[in-house]
Amino acid sequence: MIGKPDIVIKKYKIVVFIDSCFWHGCKEHGHIPKSNSDYWAEKIEKNIMRDNMVTSFYKDAGWNIIRFWEHQIKQDLSIVIETITNLIENERIKQKNEQL
Ligand SMILES: [Zn+2]
Repeated sequence: MIGKPDIVIKKYKIVVFIDSCFWHGCKEHGHIPKSNSDYWAEKIEKNIMRDNMVTSFYKDAGWNIIRFWEHQIKQDLSIVIETITNLIENERIKQKNEQL
């Protein structure tokens, strides 16, 4: 699995990533530290580029990929769980229909 997903559900081709607000450059909570700011700016920029690459990789391979921000997990875990549960349910129905 590329990009080290936080959750993998192979049966339904679902991968879930939980992105740290700092390391993945969240627009709301991300910040560039004042010391060594060039270093950090570049590092976080690279992470964002890698995230985009990983996202396209899974999409191209026909996987369902969901990305959550760390702050979403902290603020409203129930929405996160609901999103994953809905996706599992959709995939379950899809697979069932394919078997008919
Ligand atoms: Zn955030």
